[in-house]
Amino acid sequence: MKFNTKIIHGGQKIDPAYGSVMPPIYQTSTYAQSTPGGHKGYEYSRTHNPTRNALENAFASIENGNYGLAFGSGLAAIDAILKLLEPGDEVISTSDLYGGSYRLFTNIYKKFGIKFHFIGMENAINIENYINDNTKLIWVETPTNPMMNIIDVKATATIAKKYNVLLAVDNTFATPYLQRPLDLGADIVMHSATKYIGGHSDLVMGALIVRDKDLADRLYFIQNASGAICGPQDSFLALRGIKTLHVRMQRHCENGKAVAEYLANHPKIESVYWPGFKDHPNHDIAKTQMDDFGGMVSFVTKGNNYDEAIKIVENLKIFTLAESLGGVESLAGHPASMTHASIPKEAREKTGVVDALIRLSVGIEDKEDLIADLEQAIG
Ligand SMILES: *Cc1c(COP(=O)(O)O)cnc(C)c1O
Repeated sequence: MKFNTKIIHGGQKIDPAYGSVMPPIYQTSTYAQSTPGGHKGYEYSRTHNPTRNALENAFASIENGNYGLAFGSGLAAIDAILKLLEPGDEVISTSDLYGGSYRLFTNIYKKFGIKFHFIGMENAINIENYINDNTKLIWVETPTNPMMNIIDVKATATIAKKYNVLLAVDNTFATPYLQRPLDLGADIVMHSATKYIGGHSDLVMGALIVRDKDLADRLYFIQNASGAICGPQDSFLALRGIKTLHVRMQRHCENGKAVAEYLANHPKIESVYWPGFKDHPNHDIAKTQMDDFGGMVSFVTKGNNYDEAIKIVENLKIFTLAESLGGVESLAGHPASMTHASIPKEAREKTGVVDALIRLSVGIEDKEDLIADLEQAIG
């Protein structure tokens, strides 16, 4: 099955009860048993729920995995991966990463004895310098948030395999439409399904996808034992969202390109971060591992003025000033005061998240309207 067909049908079955084309929302916590243990594969909805299972099968299919797991949020999915570790284990992570992941790593898992190395991974060779016998996980986000750095997943997977370390890739920004990390050698793909997968800014959800049965079993155990699952209603919404992922992403990419090029030619803009530019430092890797460049664009105005950046995001009318990304509607964010406020100023500036950085999640509206909105806001 090709990707666009998998998006609609992957892992899906017509409901056996009445032939409903979409899986029903099985809004139930429990399932009748004819005799103790005599059930139809479902006992209790923390463990299994038919609507969630339909979604988990779709996750597995679109990422070319064998097993999918759905969680109550992206962070709950990341949390489940970290629960594979033990005190004394070490993690090598991208330095420029989603603020919530950084907060989970440093404020929660550090105190349980896990050691984190936050490093630049634009050159994969650098990762090897931090590997020792305690290294158990490499955590990659690409493109990174919000600097749009690109990490070579294939080269990182080669290193991970050489040292027998798990490689997890946060594929939230790219989505499987643009990039399939399992095909590139990663062990675990993670999504904040809140973003492009759901695609309509109407739910919060996380996903994990793996190929290996043993790894899947360990993660299913954690999913059930810790219990950070999503409900059937949200599972239904995410499934509905997935069915248009390919057409949405096509337009996100087209509009993202138009906005990035407009900003790059604007006299008041100092820099624009978008992996589709030929002079992006890792453009060649982006071109190899991604099928297009996505709808996320960040930029900095000349003079790097904090107040000016705030004024621009306040002046936008079609772009909504809001956290999050990946919905059909365009959003603008100011990382220094919003998504990355939990990262100390010094640490965030080191990775390029300066005071005037603005991040755009370019939606699927008419691109001329989006550019006109930026024009009036930037002045
Ligand atoms: C939003 C996001 C997360 C966290 O997901 P939630 O669904 O908000 O918990 C993780 N990684 C990236 C790249 C994100 O954008």
